[in-house]
Amino acid sequence: MRILVVEDEEAIADVIATKLRALKYEVDTSFDGEDGLYKATSNIYDLIILDIMLPKMDGLEILREIKENDISAKVIMLTAKSELDDKLKGFNTGADDYVTKPFHIEELIARVNVQLRNKGKSKIKDVLEYGDLALNIRTSTLTCVTTDESINIPYREFLLLEYFINNKEQIISKEQIYDKVWGMDADFESNNLEAYLSFLRKKIKIIGSKVNIKAVRNLGYKMEE
Ligand code: CA
Repeated sequence: MRILVVEDEEAIADVIATKLRALKYEVDTSFDGEDGLYKATSNIYDLIILDIMLPKMDGLEILREIKENDISAKVIMLTAKSELDDKLKGFNTGADDYVTKPFHIEELIARVNVQLRNKGKSKIKDVLEYGDLALNIRTSTLTCVTTDESINIPYREFLLLEYFINNKEQIISKEQIYDKVWGMDADFESNNLEAYLSFLRKKIKIIGSKVNIKAVRNLGYKMEE
C-alpha cells in the first residue's frame, strides 16, 4: 500500500511519513503543490494526505485534478481550523475525509485505516490470490494451492508481486513498477528490475505454480496464468 503525503510543513510531513512507514506503508512526500499534483496524478497511490494551503498550487486545485483524472486514490484533506469553508469545498470536490489541524497523529492514522479498509484493500485482508497463488501479506509467504508448496518472499519482491496481483492480467509499465515498488524519489538506474523479476519468477516456478509474469514488448509486464 502506497501513500502520498502533500504537506509543505516538512516537520509535519516527516511525522506523518515516519508513523506510516512504521506501520509498513510505503510513503512518498511532496512539499509543494506542483510536485504534489505531479505525484498525485501518477495513479500509483492507494491514499493521498493533502494539505490545503500549499506553495505553487493549493490542495483543493490538486483535489480537482485528482478527480478529473479519475485517480482511484482515497483523499484525506488537512485543514486549519480557520478554513472551515475550505473543508466544505473539499467535500464538494470529492475528498473522502478531512482532519483539522492541529491534529493528533493517532487520529490521522485511524482515518487512514478507515479509508484503506473502505477501499477493500486493507491490511486486514491477509491473503491476496491469483490463479493457483496465495500470497499471505502478514507472513510474506507465497503458496501454490495446487501443490501446497510455500516459499518466503523478500521485501522488494513482495512489493512487486503484490502490485502484479492487484493489477492481474493488465500490462504494467516499467515506470509504474519503479514508482510503486521503489518510490518516485528512487534512483531508477540503480534498481535492476529484470533481476528482481527473475528472482520472483524462479520462486513462483519452484513452488509449482502455473502463473507467469510475461514481458510485453515495448510496453512492460503482465501477470497471467
Ligand atoms: Ca500548509
